[in-house]
Order: sequence, then structure tokens, then C-alpha cells
Amino acid sequence: MKFVSVRGESRSVSFRDALFQGIAPDGNLYVPSLIPVLPDEFIQQLKDALLHDIGERVIGSFIDEIPSEHLQRIIQKAWNFPIPVVEIENNLFLLELFHGPTLAFKDIGARFMAEVMSYFLDQEQQHVTILVATSGDTGSAVAHGFYNVPNIEVFILYPSGKISHLQEQQMTTLGGNIRAIEVEGTFDDCQRLLKQALNDRDIQKSRMLTTANSINLGRLIPQITYYVWGISQLRQLGHAEKPIVVVPSGNFGNLTAAVYAKRMGTPIQAFVAATNMNDVVPQYFRTGIFTPRPSVQTMSNAMDVGNPSNFARLQSLYENDVNRFRNDGEAISISEAETLSEIRRTYERTNYILDPHTAVGVAAARRIVHQADLPIIVTATAHPAKFPDVVKQAIGTNIPLPPSLQAALIEPKRSVRISSNYDSLKQLLVIDEG
Ligand SMILES: *Cc1c(COP(=O)(O)O)cnc(C)c1O
Repeated sequence: MKFVSVRGESRSVSFRDALFQGIAPDGNLYVPSLIPVLPDEFIQQLKDALLHDIGERVIGSFIDEIPSEHLQRIIQKAWNFPIPVVEIENNLFLLELFHGPTLAFKDIGARFMAEVMSYFLDQEQQHVTILVATSGDTGSAVAHGFYNVPNIEVFILYPSGKISHLQEQQMTTLGGNIRAIEVEGTFDDCQRLLKQALNDRDIQKSRMLTTANSINLGRLIPQITYYVWGISQLRQLGHAEKPIVVVPSGNFGNLTAAVYAKRMGTPIQAFVAATNMNDVVPQYFRTGIFTPRPSVQTMSNAMDVGNPSNFARLQSLYENDVNRFRNDGEAISISEAETLSEIRRTYERTNYILDPHTAVGVAAARRIVHQADLPIIVTATAHPAKFPDVVKQAIGTNIPLPPSLQAALIEPKRSVRISSNYDSLKQLLVIDEG
């Protein structure tokens, strides 16, 4: 299959090229040139399918450049952790996407992307440098995804003193092929440095440089798998009905993957996009007008996005027609107070501790629960132990840090500190060669 710019102005490219370019030459996102449909018999037999086999089928129907035995191996390496579905209340299910190394759902896409890049580089006997800018979570998912992956070196730019201690430790203690660069400046400075480096021919001469942000198709396509897997698990639990799927959303990559899954024939009744107070998409659902604006800070901070980058992909899937969008689902914004009280309510009813992002999803699910007597699947995007302060505030309980995070806290921090001046980054990237 070929991949095209979402506005269709650049020529179509292979998956490999879309993966390493990240963004099309016309500055827009890449999308698949068509949406493959899963065969009926595959859907009928989902109940007994294995995660890795579903992945191979779903991903392989987009990416036909990789022989299936290699694709199977890539998937096995990337997803070496479970993705359980748990029923926390009657007809309310959580699809737990947070069992990867950084305890958040971004591991699923980031680890696939790392392995698939490594596969192509190995075939081509090439080496690549990945440069990313992060305000926290993306950096640790990328760092852990690419850690020890052959043929790849990673430089992570983060704003000094502006990310949490735990996030910093997760990025700076790995060492090996992961280099953490602490920038004396803001996240915007980091992004500016990143853009400048990606366009710098002096650097491109000495190394193949690319980025790995969340809009890359190498992260989006694998995410479709877990929606199909969710249906499989629902059937295992004895539910044959089409569920409603609730997705806590920020940049809307996770929701876009859900829409692809439905278009491919996965039995999903409807979607709910759940946001925190950054509600530009719920507002679009109400008014039909999309008005991006600066983000505001909330407890579910990985969803603090004022101009969701995947909105262009959703627009193209729904042909810029808000009514088509509304036919498929709805969008609900949840306040900070509701997020806290949802963590409390769910804990009191079920003993299950939600993280603040998943709590936004569960709170949205409760608003629609009366609408239909259907199972509801909420994607659980982070482990609650990553947000001990919010959990403590909500239920008064100290939640112990999982062993993997505890280990990161005691390792020595290894980072290079630079000014926000572009020359200091350039020197690092050029001199470092050889
Ligand atoms: C990134 C993130 C989200 C939002 O996902 P999008 O694909 O950007 O909508 C939700 N929850 C957590 C924990 C995240 O890290």
C-alpha cells in the first residue's frame, strides 16, 4: 500500500519512506491511500485469536512491504507485555494499554516504530539518528522504545527543570544509545532546535537524521490492533454485542486509530472522544466550527492539547463533514472536579484505581451509560502509579511506585546540558560523529 499526504499534494510514498520522513514534503500528515477491510471470517473467529496474530493481520493489511515472518518478529519484540481487558462494573470494561516499560499507552506505538525502523535499517545496512523534543511523556516512551535497538541513536531534547523528576529519570538513566539533552529553555525552545536541526544540511551530510513524534504513521498503524484485540477479549468474556469505545484524547492519535479499526470492519457501535478542559473537539461537535487555542494545564496533562495534530486525519476520514462525524459518535469534555470525583467514585465502588487520563474516559462513559444497554470499553492509557499526587488527592491513598519506576529513580542521571542557542546543539550533533 502507498501513503499520501492528507491534503494530497505530495506524491505517494512507501511505508518505509513515510516512516523515515515523518511528515510529507508539503508539510501535512501522511495517511493510508485506502482503508483495507478485514475478512468476515477473520472477524467471526476473533474470539480465539492471539494479540500478535491480530497485529500481523491488521498491520500487514497496511504494510505489505515486510514479509509476514519478519512482521511477526517485529510485533513479538515490540509487544512483550500483555494488554488485558478487565470488567470493572457491569458492562464497563477497561482496555489496559499501560503494561509497557513506561506504564503508558504510548509504549505500544513507540516500540513498534522502533522495531520497524530497525528492520528497514538492518536490510539497508544504514544507521539513523533520531532527534525528539519532549515536554515529558513522549520522551520516555521513545527512549524506552528505542533503547538498545540496533542501528539507531536517539537524542532527546527536554526543557531543564520543566518536567517531573520521574519523567527526567526515565529518560536520562538508560544510557547506551539514548542521549538526553537538557536544554536551558522551554519546550518551545526544544521544538525550535529540533526543527532547525532537521533542516540543517551540514548535519544531514554526516548523519541520517529523523524524528519520532506521535504523528508518525509508524506509531498510528500499530495502535489499530488493540481495538480489534479489545473485541476479541470482549467475546472471550461472553459479550457478542458491538461495544461503544471511549477514548481519552489529546492529540487524537488514539481516537484516529479507533476510527480506522471501525472502518476496517471491526464491530464497534460508536465512539466517544473524551477530553479534559482542552475541549476544542467537543466544541467542534457542538458548533461545527474548529477553533484551536492555547492549551490549559490539567491533571490529565498528557491530554493538554489545544490544537490536536490528528484532527486533519479525522477531518479527511469524515470528509470535513461534522454530521458524518456525529453519526459515528460524540465528544465529551470532563472538568477537573469530575476527574477527581471519578477516581474516588470508581475506587469506592470497585476498588480499582484510575489514573487521571483514564478517569476522564470513565467519567465520559458514565454520561452515556443510560443511552444504550451495550458494553462500553474505555481505553486505560496510563498506570495510576505515575500520578501519585492526584491519586492521593482523590482517595487519600499513597500508591506504591512499581519496581521498574523505583529502579529508574535511584539510577544516576546522565544528560548533557546545553544553552537554547542552536549552535550548541549543532556542535553536539556534528562533533559527535565518529
Ligand atoms: C498521550 C496520552 C493520551 C492522549 O492520546 P492521544 O493519542 O494524543 O489522543 C492519553 N493518555 C495518556 C496517558 C497519554 O500519554
